[in-house]
Amino acid sequence: MNEIMREAIAKHCKKYKYSKSYQAYWTAYPFCEVCGNYSTAPHHIRTRGAGGNDESGNLLALCTTHHTEAHTMGIQSFANKYEQFYEKIAATLDFGLVGSVKEDRNDSKQKG
Ligand SMILES: [Zn+2]
Ligand SMILES: [Zn+2]
Repeated sequence: MNEIMREAIAKHCKKYKYSKSYQAYWTAYPFCEVCGNYSTAPHHIRTRGAGGNDESGNLLALCTTHHTEAHTMGIQSFANKYEQFYEKIAATLDFGLVGSVKEDRNDSKQKG
């Protein structure tokens, strides 16, 4: 994690009014947890629209490709595909609530 990246993240978070905790997570985990490419923005496991917060337990560091995949397939399918995330996602989401997957998709249209 170099200064240029740190500043780019800080600038982006300021521009989009992301919280300090969101910025802190992104700074701490700047690489995609699936493939190791640069994380282009942490993903909310439980969307903010569904009451999710910006704490580390609710965020996943993902690159554009895997972030898009998470939104496209839904967080439940994503958890099943990438088992390394399963426990974290299951701990945050009630998998009985199918609605949380739908809201996740709606949220993707509003922000990255
Ligand atoms: Zn990736
Ligand atoms: Zn997302």
